[in-house]
Amino acid sequence: MAVFGYRKGKYCAEKVSVRRIAQSCGTPFYCYSRSGIEAAYADYVAAFAACDALICYAIKANSNQSIIGLLGALGAGADVVSEGELRRAIAAGIPGDKIVYSGVAKTATEIEFALRSNIRQFNVESEPELEQISAAAVRLGKKANVAFRINPDVDALTHEKISTGKVENKFGIPWQSAGKAYARAAAMPGINICGIDIHIGSQITHLEPYSLAFERVAEMVEQLRGDGHTISSIDLGGGLGIDYRNGAEPVPTPAQYAEVAMSKLGHLGCQFILEPGRSLVGAAGILVGRVIYVKRGSQTTFLIVDAAMNDFLRPSMYDAHHSISSESDGNEKSQVYDVVGPVCETGDTFGHERTLPQQSPGDLIIIEGAGAYGSVMASTYNTRCLVPEVLVDGNEFKVIRERPDYSDLIGLDVPWEPPDAG
Ligand SMILES: *Cc1c(COP(=O)(O)O)cnc(C)c1O
Repeated sequence: MAVFGYRKGKYCAEKVSVRRIAQSCGTPFYCYSRSGIEAAYADYVAAFAACDALICYAIKANSNQSIIGLLGALGAGADVVSEGELRRAIAAGIPGDKIVYSGVAKTATEIEFALRSNIRQFNVESEPELEQISAAAVRLGKKANVAFRINPDVDALTHEKISTGKVENKFGIPWQSAGKAYARAAAMPGINICGIDIHIGSQITHLEPYSLAFERVAEMVEQLRGDGHTISSIDLGGGLGIDYRNGAEPVPTPAQYAEVAMSKLGHLGCQFILEPGRSLVGAAGILVGRVIYVKRGSQTTFLIVDAAMNDFLRPSMYDAHHSISSESDGNEKSQVYDVVGPVCETGDTFGHERTLPQQSPGDLIIIEGAGAYGSVMASTYNTRCLVPEVLVDGNEFKVIRERPDYSDLIGLDVPWEPPDAG
């Protein structure tokens, strides 16, 4: 289902033209499609309909309260990686018993807050962290439900910065040490072992890494049960990729992914916990910017737009490819551009050698596949204000995060005065 594309020659989000939104809230802005997000969630629900599965949206992908709320209303839980995210999930109405807490280094304060919030489980990433969790639980007179995040040492075949399941990555407990870690956990007063967890990476576009990782998990569940531990849930993590190239980068569907999970793990009778982020919201968002200048270099024509790397980091951080569209699909002459932002960094480039209809200052350009790891990774570098977020629903739209003004930004700083001399 195409939620973004041309209607009568004009680029639209569902039934709203991006021009209409730009006129109302200026550029740049993020725009999300309600039906795009809901359809992606429905795909997961359908794929796992035959099993006991809890879908915990990884809110770091896009943590706007309206987006979390939308998914929460459909029954989703949340996967959080910080106290801030836990607070966001709770504020958006996600019940504690549907929240799993992942992340490599939870502090004592964060752990206590999570225990008081009665979350479903901690995904534990090291033995020192396990000790902290047990101690905090004892202080509060509670038991913490835990699963260990196991590092299965498989190559997710993705960009190195988003690969998390290899020995050299900082994540999880080496699978060879799991037996020892579970034995320690079982002896701790504040700990209740409930399951096992993996998350091998992000933007995974092949099923083989999942298949290998799930096989390892299945062996481990048998082994841990043999050691007398109760393993009633398997957290499969997230990571399923999306097609960033308009059909040219085929990715497995949730149904195909579910098939692998069922075939490798179905016989164990565990509940599945899923932590999808990108695959729920990534394709359901765009970033819209406006052409400021067309600058002709000796070899390259630069299309300089008002969105920049501080607003959307993925191209410079991960060498990510995002398709870029123009506002009109008219029959104008086309031209090859390097699409760049105004920030003082060569990395501030959204796309090289992109063919677009000829552009002029004031035209809108659309960066697609920007719903995940877009606005959440934005900064105010170059003292640029964070950009607003808009949610489209049919032929209506609503601003779900306002554009701050410069006084909000500069006013965070506290003036310093030199101490009196003498
Ligand atoms: C980032 C992350 C996810 C979500 O990954 P996606 O690639 O966005 O699906 C899930 N679980 C954990 C532990 C993560 O760190």
